[in-house]
Amino acid sequence: MHRVSRRNFLKTGVSLSAATFLAGGNKILSRSQIGAPAGAGPCVVASNNGLEAVEKAMNMIRSGSDPLDAVIAGVNLVEEDPEDMSVGYGGLPNEEGVVELDASVMHGPTHNAGAVASLRNIKTPSRVAKLVMERTDHALLVGEGALKFALAHGFKEENLLTDKARQIWLRWKETLSERDNWFPPKMDKLAEELEPYISSYGTVNCIAIDSAGNLAGVTTTSGLAFKIPGRVGDSPIIGAGLYVDNDIGAAGSTGRGEANIITCGSHMVVNFMGLGSSPEEACLKALQKIAEKTRLQPHLVDDEGRPRFGLSFYAINKKGQYGSGSMWSGSTFAVHDGNEKKLKETAYLFKRDKNSRATRLRR
Ligand code: ASP
Repeated sequence: MHRVSRRNFLKTGVSLSAATFLAGGNKILSRSQIGAPAGAGPCVVASNNGLEAVEKAMNMIRSGSDPLDAVIAGVNLVEEDPEDMSVGYGGLPNEEGVVELDASVMHGPTHNAGAVASLRNIKTPSRVAKLVMERTDHALLVGEGALKFALAHGFKEENLLTDKARQIWLRWKETLSERDNWFPPKMDKLAEELEPYISSYGTVNCIAIDSAGNLAGVTTTSGLAFKIPGRVGDSPIIGAGLYVDNDIGAAGSTGRGEANIITCGSHMVVNFMGLGSSPEEACLKALQKIAEKTRLQPHLVDDEGRPRFGLSFYAINKKGQYGSGSMWSGSTFAVHDGNEKKLKETAYLFKRDKNSRATRLRR
């Protein structure tokens, strides 16, 4: 399969992506046309906080587990880890100091999916999402309804706000404005340690193919730190934060959810793979499309018209090939290719320089 190197892709930039999108847009290739033999896996890919997750999932797939059970068990490690402040227990809370979780799962062989959004007090939203898929006639449950559903299935309510996450939230609240009644403490060591987290966010996505060529994926997150209560990101939206087509491939994402929701990013990545792109090319083409659309929202782009936010896609195709692409340079992703688990650099659209501000967004 023709492969566009990162350098060539970057050189050709916007015009290439638009031309390729249009040229390939009228024909969906069949499985045999993209040379997709069954049995090309196993392979597991995740965002860079999922290095242990890919290992866990690979071990389970090798022991015969369904790929969806395997990736969920993988991300459970991250959801239950209080040190990961972007997912599950220990995740950064909303603006009122309450942790609200989003998650989705999708199972290739049955083309079925389930999701929960704004779920409070349950450590492992990915497991609840799987039950939505298996034990309801729905695809997405939110808020109080999602919590009641989880409790009905025996999940235990727990306080998800760790002391560290509470202190970071408090620091954010106290430094938000000089015109309110909350005062920050005098600068001390703790405050300095917390500073890097003030604008941080994150998610874990994990996708897999087994040796029979069956695909599955999961995306789970505490979402944007200090969000407006009830804000839902891309992670629980099928087609945005996750998409699986068992005939083509799987894709998932991390980063600015709003940009991804309004472009159906993961669906777009899978679609590009169906049109013949490699996983890496498909991720970059979707990012290119998102970057082009973002120019219509001037407050989201820098002086050079580049998005002022981070967004990454992760993809595996039916042949077991994998790849990842990020809006900005400097990101990594986790993979277990059947031999070993490792972190690899993502391909990227824009090289980060001193003028690029990919994380702090202010209108
Ligand atoms: N995609 C997540 C969201 O928008 C956040 C992230 O991945 O950092 O909720």
